[in-house]
Amino acid sequence: NINGNANGSARPLNVAVVGGGIIGVMTAIGLRRRGIHAIIYERAQTWHEVSAGMAFTGAAREWMQQIDPALVELLANISQKTDAASSNAYWNAYHPRTKEDAEDESKSLLFRIPVNNLDFWGCVRSQLLKGMADLLPEGAAVFGKQLLNYIDDEQSGNVVLHFADGTTAEADVLLGCDGIHSVTRAVLLGADHPASRAGFSHTVAYRTMVPIELGIKALGEKVAKSACNHLGPNADLLVYPVMSGTLLNMAVFAHEEAEFPDPDKMTVHVDRTEIQKLFDGWSPQVADIWKLYPEKVVKWGIFDLEANPPPTYAGGRACLVGDAAHASTPYLGVGACTGVEDALVVCTLLESVQQKALSGEALKEALRDALQTYSAARLDRGRWIHHHSRQMVDGVEILVDVGPDLAAQLVVAVAHLEGNVGVHVRGDAGLEEFFAGLVDRGEGAV
Ligand code: FAD
Repeated sequence: NINGNANGSARPLNVAVVGGGIIGVMTAIGLRRRGIHAIIYERAQTWHEVSAGMAFTGAAREWMQQIDPALVELLANISQKTDAASSNAYWNAYHPRTKEDAEDESKSLLFRIPVNNLDFWGCVRSQLLKGMADLLPEGAAVFGKQLLNYIDDEQSGNVVLHFADGTTAEADVLLGCDGIHSVTRAVLLGADHPASRAGFSHTVAYRTMVPIELGIKALGEKVAKSACNHLGPNADLLVYPVMSGTLLNMAVFAHEEAEFPDPDKMTVHVDRTEIQKLFDGWSPQVADIWKLYPEKVVKWGIFDLEANPPPTYAGGRACLVGDAAHASTPYLGVGACTGVEDALVVCTLLESVQQKALSGEALKEALRDALQTYSAARLDRGRWIHHHSRQMVDGVEILVDVGPDLAAQLVVAVAHLEGNVGVHVRGDAGLEEFFAGLVDRGEGAV
């Protein structure tokens, strides 16, 4: 029962990583790099991720560099990069009546937000996951292992994981990277705890990717080659290039009053005419965007933990990492980036425990303490993300409820949320004067 070998050096910690999504795999890579024996238990039969875009900020890349430099190298090879000088553009997608007006910056651009240190690199999720999986040694992931329960067993000395196929596994520590409907969270907090179930945000997303040429034809070169959001009543269309600029990632986000059909599944197959109806009567190029989607599309219900955030991310020798801890709506575009921060914190803490070469009760106590430290370090940050992401949704809805003349309300909401961002507002002179008084910080101009 001694956590060391004959030479007196520490044996590697055994860490069970439940969930082989983006954050589980990244965490396992970081642990392995620190000499920790991490095994991923994934419920699917193989690596799986959607073929949709996602983007990582410059800050997230710095944390990745510390987790394992190979991650940044990988991302650099598969991403479309924006630099710190570029901006995210927000277009009026509702009022322009002609395609020419819709693509004319002087008529339809609402505002730009300089990306500052948020310079996003956009990649394809499935390509990133596959690339990361290739960084792991053989045997580091076991598939077809759906966690049903775990026991933080004082008697045996190990955390015991129970899977749906009747098998078990043991580890010194369990990291629940099992996403928004985390079983780890339900066991850690208790199945009856309100935070054990994520809530429907009443927004849905329709995602696809098209060859960049098609995107340019539909939206114009300026839009298709940068990060742009098109705003209008109760919906918006976000586009940005991925795969070294060869594909245009497209996501339609829409408000949905009704409850989501199957809250445990999060997706439902629908006809693309749903998108057609959403954008009916909008400016011509957005009104036609449904034609770029396949006839049957996957509609994603967007769930988060805003209504019932977990009171802690750790209990005993188990903790929550990534969406399992702080699932968020995607309006800040940093859900996974926040998981990268978690991964670095938990890797660093477990490395420090391993370096102490403890055994028995001392090891258990050090692990429990390390996970409590992790929770204390991450709790406010996790809550901040899903809270402010929800505020972005509300900001969009302010715009759409009150009409285009108060579009600048959204600008203020965004400026407020983003802190010292530069904001450029176009509008009549009165409006500009009004906002000059409000937005008086940062490097932006009104
Ligand atoms: P998941 O990706 O959900 O992975 C969980 C894994 O656990 C899965 O493989 C699952 O099969 C497995 N699993 C689940 N239950 C069990 C179980 N019981 N036993 C074993 N395995 C299990 N974030 C960004 O930073 N940038 C973006 O651009 C961005 N865009 C987004 C766009 C949209 C439309 C959405 C919805 C989200 C976006 N996000 C973005 C957020 C990002 O997708 C998530 O934060 C990220 O995928 C979370 O990764 P994860 O590994 O924690 O969870």
